[in-house]
Amino acid sequence: MQKAHQILKTVFGFDSFRPLQEEIIINILSKKDSLVIMPTGGGKSLCYQIPALLFDGLTIVISPLISLMKDQVEQLRQIGVETSLLNSSLSQGEYNKNYNSVLNKKAKLLYIAPESLQKNEIISLLKNVKVDCITVDEAHCISEWGHDFRKDYRQLGSFRKGFRSAVCIGLTATATPRVQDDIIKNLNMSGHKKFIASFNRENLFLQIIPKRKPFDQTVAFLNEHKNQSGIIYCFSRKQVESLHEDLSDLGFSTKPYHAGLPDDERNKNQDLFIKDEVQIIIATIAFGMGINKSNVRFVLHYDLPKNIESYYQEIGRSGRDGVRADCLLLFGYGDISKINYFIDQKEDPVERRSAEMHLQAMVQYAETEVCRRLPLIKYFGENYTEDYCGMCDNCTIDEKESVDVTINAQKFLSAIKRTGEVFGVNYIIDVLCGAESDRIFSNGHQNLSVYGVGKELNKKQWQILAHQFIRKELIRRDNEFGSLKLNESANDVLFKNKKISGFIKQPEVSRKKLKITDEGYDKNLFELLRAERKYIADSHNIPPFVIFSDASLIQMAKDFPVNEGEFLRISGVGVNKLERYGKVFIPIIKKYADKYRTGSKSLKIKTRKRGSRIDKPRHIQVGDSYNDGKSIKELEEEFNVKTQTIISHLVRYTAEGRSVRTNGLAEMLTVDKKHHKKVFEHFNMEGTQQLSPAFEKFSQEISYLDLHILKLIYLNNNMKK
Ligand code: ADP
Ligand code: MG
Repeated sequence: MQKAHQILKTVFGFDSFRPLQEEIIINILSKKDSLVIMPTGGGKSLCYQIPALLFDGLTIVISPLISLMKDQVEQLRQIGVETSLLNSSLSQGEYNKNYNSVLNKKAKLLYIAPESLQKNEIISLLKNVKVDCITVDEAHCISEWGHDFRKDYRQLGSFRKGFRSAVCIGLTATATPRVQDDIIKNLNMSGHKKFIASFNRENLFLQIIPKRKPFDQTVAFLNEHKNQSGIIYCFSRKQVESLHEDLSDLGFSTKPYHAGLPDDERNKNQDLFIKDEVQIIIATIAFGMGINKSNVRFVLHYDLPKNIESYYQEIGRSGRDGVRADCLLLFGYGDISKINYFIDQKEDPVERRSAEMHLQAMVQYAETEVCRRLPLIKYFGENYTEDYCGMCDNCTIDEKESVDVTINAQKFLSAIKRTGEVFGVNYIIDVLCGAESDRIFSNGHQNLSVYGVGKELNKKQWQILAHQFIRKELIRRDNEFGSLKLNESANDVLFKNKKISGFIKQPEVSRKKLKITDEGYDKNLFELLRAERKYIADSHNIPPFVIFSDASLIQMAKDFPVNEGEFLRISGVGVNKLERYGKVFIPIIKKYADKYRTGSKSLKIKTRKRGSRIDKPRHIQVGDSYNDGKSIKELEEEFNVKTQTIISHLVRYTAEGRSVRTNGLAEMLTVDKKHHKKVFEHFNMEGTQQLSPAFEKFSQEISYLDLHILKLIYLNNNMKK
């Protein structure tokens, strides 16, 4: 285990194991089959990757999606681990290279799709090497009870029988016992041990607000998350499309994703999101499987999810890097009826009943007044006993705003009672406000003593209160018909004068609650490092998070590592990353620290000039200044960055639909005119998304900086057309 700790630090760059990782690694190293159940982002991969480096032989990793495999393989290669990948997406040349790295025992890990394991060629390859470990990622795909059943996974049991000396590991984030039993049975796990990690994801901030003007609420939320990656989930394709249109009209960087789009468009949009080229993906539930982008900073539910499992899985896609992520749900009662409508279409009564119960649990969760983690974690069968998490709306609500609403409650409850407990929220409010509606008149309710006694509040304020009375369990709402009924405890308010406190003002997406992370890191330095990360990622055509996680960049912008020793102390920096990227990142940090830090020991940052432009995203500041007449050189000095960083800001500026002046750019190029044309022709054919193919095509003779400048010129020329 000492070796395992060493690898954790030197190869992966992490200081300590996350919960259960160590126990699991010990179990695997002693060749005992292991079933690992951890929530998304819990750190499952490390559990087999460290043993893989310690075993003599090969570790096979079976994974259901090519996109998942590619990112994992890239992440391992980035930290210097020899890794092979065999699937149908490879060119013949690449395939052979990967094949040979297994054959000549160079590769420590092989990522492969389940269907490939039935090919004779692959079987005989594997028979020629020593296989020490068989890892089945997303192991729930083996079970028909799971949500992503894959037929090819069923063959894995007999496949593993061919490798008796290999230990077998199943990994999944699905918690149901039935699925777990299926995995154990199908993989022929014997003498296995089951590891179940806590499903509590402490870094997710959970918030639910009443859905009023969902579009405005969304815009307010997005404005609090400028420059960040996030997902917006909608109920329908139509909603996805219209929200995408409206938000992009306002200048937000969005793309749609749903099953109705052609495959290539869907894949492209996903890719743009993963590469931080597009900030926000607006999607139906079709989006998510196969995404392991670690820097998703928020998930917004525009509509109510059908059940807690989906909700939890969807919010779980944020904050994988352990940095705070914000999860907001807009909760409207209208959504309940929409979902109920679909449930009613189900023919099987058992299925229908089960869907109803799931929906009910979801609604109860949305309405709860206690710490949100209590019902959520309990739902997954876990014993959660904390009563204050400090990371949900209910735990951080500002008590000062709460007022005595006993009289209001009494009026509301008697209106329900007097009208016979058969009407919905809006009708009750109409009665209280003395509305002159036909429905009220035909019921004769204008004659009740409660008619018109609630005029001190407007309709909206009453609605806000009604939600709270439900949450306080004074009343309940019939899910099918929407009618309100009194609970036992209502009597205490009506007859025993029990005091009720609550809020009359609408709780909103508040500034205070939605800080991204702890302050205490330098946002400007973070942006510089992020731009550099993006630049390198684009050059190599890999997602930015594969180079460094947001967590690593934040720590850099907090600790200011200015030499190799200090850089190595950053979580996520191992020896390989130090070697690869230290020489680029350390000078940026050093230069920045020299300019803005007072004294080497103090972490205090000199206060910077604050102008009106300070709140604009960096690339827009750069683009605007450039168009105002500043030269690239001047901008480099002003922002204290390299040429390439300025260029990538301008590229982003352009990619979002603004143009920049192109005179002067061509003069910066070091290649001749003849080459420009060839590169433009290449862009015409292949697009500008990836620069590495161009780099290879021109035998690495055109530098990446030149390619980025050419891309900028090209994009601007195209815009003028
Ligand atoms: P899962 O497969 O369970 O969804 P991953 O294995 O992809 O999760 O890990 C999620 C993130 O957590 C990754 O960015 C990974 O680098 C990070 N991580 C895993 N283990 C540790 C650790 N011990 N210390 C710090 N970060 C870790
Ligand atoms: Mg995983």
